[in-house]
Amino acid sequence: MTEIPVANDSMWDRTGRPVLEAVPERALNEHILSWWKPDHDAVLQSLIMKYQWHWYLGASDAIVSATPGPVIDAWRDADPLCRLYAWYNVLMHFGLARAATLGYANAVRPSRRRQCPMCAQEYTEDAFSPPMVRWLGVDHLDCCPPCLGQALYNDGDDTLSDRQVLSFVRQLSAVTACVPDQRWLGRIGQHHNVQRPARMRLLLLLRRRPAVACVKRLYGSWLGALVASGVLASGTRVTSRGIHCLAIDGHACWSLSEKAIDDYLYAAGAIHE
Ligand SMILES: [Zn+2]
Repeated sequence: MTEIPVANDSMWDRTGRPVLEAVPERALNEHILSWWKPDHDAVLQSLIMKYQWHWYLGASDAIVSATPGPVIDAWRDADPLCRLYAWYNVLMHFGLARAATLGYANAVRPSRRRQCPMCAQEYTEDAFSPPMVRWLGVDHLDCCPPCLGQALYNDGDDTLSDRQVLSFVRQLSAVTACVPDQRWLGRIGQHHNVQRPARMRLLLLLRRRPAVACVKRLYGSWLGALVASGVLASGTRVTSRGIHCLAIDGHACWSLSEKAIDDYLYAAGAIHE
């Protein structure tokens, strides 16, 4: 039996093919087949459609989620491979082999070579890390990884004019569909709630974000910039309970997060007190 490599972030090659090869015999594992159901095959197919060349990195977790805990526990106790290798790698390699054997893996397309609209450099889609592929979506890898990193993790420009800052605030509010809080001036990661079609617009915008010091110098605070830009009504004020402001539906809110929820419900057509 060849050694089972562990899961890590460098499991695909430059052409987008998996570095890990499917070994057909691993699909014959009776200890797994004894509880494997059509639902599990659907899980594999769904991962392939969603994550393409990275799909198998999430295979173990997805299989576990689709299986009762006691079944997984009993399998881990019974399968001798689990005494030789980490059980989640055994599961991943089983999934990899099964997807290859049944032809599911044929739906993995090669990663494309593309030109970045921000810097004009060429890149291949498989240059993105798995978390970024998950966040952007495998069919929306529309700029190169360095430009993406620059958009998410820059410190902001301290030289923007007052008009440029206001324009940034208004556009940020439009793209995020809420009143954005000051965190957007920081080195935000990918864990925020902007829907996929708007993400590239957001990234373009964040490359030109103002520095915190710039906003403070021109408007005293982020709240000052929100009010000056018209994103928040001029009656907005900071109180001991939080930022008192109006939601789109006129409902008085005591924080930006409350307003964000209120505006979200309003946009979704929900009626509330
Ligand atoms: Zn680029």
